[in-house]
Amino acid sequence: MLCILCGKEEVTEGRLCKNCMASTIDLSVPDFMEITQCPKCASVMIGKSWYRGDIVPRITKSIGKIIVLNNPGFRLDISWVGVDLDNANLTANLKIFNGGTLIKEENVVIKLKITKNSCPTCNRVSGSYYESILQVRTFSHEATEVIGEVEQFAVKFIESAEGSNPTSFISKVVSQREGVDIYLGKRSDALKLSKIIMDMYFSNLKVSKSLAGMKEGSEIYRYTYSIRIFNLKLGSIIESKSQKFVIIGIHPQTIYVLDPRDMKKRVLKRADVFDQDWRIVDALGNLKKFIVLSSGHGESEIMDSVTFKTHTVKLETEEKELDLIQVDNNIIVPQ
Ligand SMILES: [Zn+2]
Ligand SMILES: [Zn+2]
Repeated sequence: MLCILCGKEEVTEGRLCKNCMASTIDLSVPDFMEITQCPKCASVMIGKSWYRGDIVPRITKSIGKIIVLNNPGFRLDISWVGVDLDNANLTANLKIFNGGTLIKEENVVIKLKITKNSCPTCNRVSGSYYESILQVRTFSHEATEVIGEVEQFAVKFIESAEGSNPTSFISKVVSQREGVDIYLGKRSDALKLSKIIMDMYFSNLKVSKSLAGMKEGSEIYRYTYSIRIFNLKLGSIIESKSQKFVIIGIHPQTIYVLDPRDMKKRVLKRADVFDQDWRIVDALGNLKKFIVLSSGHGESEIMDSVTFKTHTVKLETEEKELDLIQVDNNIIVPQ
């Protein structure tokens, strides 16, 4: 049977000859494909992930998504791909089948738009690139255990973000006598981390920027997010304007203190603590263990585990032991 279109050739499948069938192929091939390459290690970022070594299988997968065959009955097969990074192009061999019959084969050349950008691994190794510093400090100006806690949290947080966003990375962590400095590849990560830390601890944030240089005619700033965490323990004593207070409650937004002269409770906000001059009289606190003898009707009979002295506190509990604050002869329940 002859082809119904040209009337000259024998039909292969259906009612068209191979040439006429090939002329109906509607293929969308993009002019270019964007990739990012690290100038230091030659890793390539395709989509949102970085690849080392043989990138051809990755690129083949990627162009399989951008070369589209619009004929629903036909099948497109990318049989091989050659990537030439030096000349910024790739060649793909395309085979189009109708059922089991190859009806067209052609090579297409797609230009590569290559952006040079240092990869997260190289950034981390050199420790040179960062957009912001998260400075973690304490109220007592000492690197107490809270610094280690926050550092671990920050590292985990950035590592989990890195998978989905390669611009999130820690370029270096520098331990200081007063705390720790965490250098971050992405400015917004320092802001995100600061907010989370502020929700976790009674703390204070100060942001400052410094000129880091010029890029394409505009000024580049580096940001320092300096967070100060209240690290004193319950029962610690702080002093301001010759007035002493005992810390009886620590929460992310407020701390509760007690004036030992009148035994009155006061609430301090962040500004009261971090924007005023305080002297630390006792940073260790004096939380004491008490054994609960009985509890009910809103109060408990407790016994000092060292002196065996008994007291009554306004607190109902099912615990067998309580950690309480002692101020002179008064036993204070933490707020
Ligand atoms: Zn024909
Ligand atoms: Zn690299």
